[in-house]
Amino acid sequence: MNIIITINKQSKVPMENTNIAVVTGANKGIGYAIVEQLLLHPTKYSVFLTSRDTQRGEEAMANLLKKYPEFKNRLHYHQLDVSSSKSIDNFVQWLEDNQKTVSLLVNNAGIFYQREIRPNNGNFEFVDFLPPEDTKRIIQTNVRGLIELTEKLLPYLADDGKIINISSLAGELWWQGEAVQNWLSDSRLTRQGFFDLLDTFEQAAYKQQHPALGYFGSIYFTSKAFVNAYTRFILPRLLKKNQTGFAVHPGWIQTDLGGKEAPGKIDDSYVSTLAIVNLSLEDSLKLSGRYFDEFGKLKDF
Ligand code: NAP
Repeated sequence: MNIIITINKQSKVPMENTNIAVVTGANKGIGYAIVEQLLLHPTKYSVFLTSRDTQRGEEAMANLLKKYPEFKNRLHYHQLDVSSSKSIDNFVQWLEDNQKTVSLLVNNAGIFYQREIRPNNGNFEFVDFLPPEDTKRIIQTNVRGLIELTEKLLPYLADDGKIINISSLAGELWWQGEAVQNWLSDSRLTRQGFFDLLDTFEQAAYKQQHPALGYFGSIYFTSKAFVNAYTRFILPRLLKKNQTGFAVHPGWIQTDLGGKEAPGKIDDSYVSTLAIVNLSLEDSLKLSGRYFDEFGKLKDF
């Protein structure tokens, strides 16, 4: 095998061009835990911890390197704000300049405003509409940014590369009205049709009129439903023969996003992701485009 060794300009550490994993939003919470698990994984990934804020990312790097000094040649950092085209382009240019291919992309970065939703008897009830700027931020980060990064990274995805979208139970279609369920589960959904639906949803949501179209009140919940529809219908058509893509629910986990009342601990949060990482190529190809619960079990969207 031809192994190219180059210097990672940002971390100044020599790295091999084999089994590179990239995790977005990895300075804390579930993304950070996934980085740690990928370092410990027998595949011996070269892991890119990425974050929108460089200082927070470097603090996370320092914490991990303190815990695992033995991984200093396999842990790398790059700034990556998935809501910024410039930041995405910068990262992709780095892959180009350094002739890197990515074996695993974990699209983990996400935002949620807790004032939208309140837990109620083991379920959640919608509480309040968000102002347009927060609505825009959620859709930009959770949906548009995830897609922009994914599609710009595709030319650098290994021939058997995997993409794991950290979605949520919140994205399951039963939260949505019948019309939305039909639109987002239609196997004829095109990429253009997907973005037309997203635009219509976003415009309605700015005026707090999206429930009238059949959407659940929470922008976060619907953002994850769009991530699922993209994973199910659009992404598979963009992938090469042995490349695969999945959506997973990490569990309701105690993080800044999940809140203190969440039943799951951080060590529960990577079970579903690792289940997908561990799939053989044969099983990956059979299951590509599907959605998995927090235990790594196949589930309906
Ligand atoms: P978290 O602790 O709040 O961490 C979210 C991470 O995403 C942070 O590193 C944050 O960076 C980053 N981020 C936000 N906007 C970003 C952007 N534009 N570009 C790059 N990174 C960005 O949340 P978490 O619970 O770990 O959530 C991780 C993923 O799991 C999310 O996609 C979330 O929707 C999903 N999820 C979580 C739960 C749960 O119960 N926790 C349940 C279902 C799904 P900063 O530190 O700079 O803000």
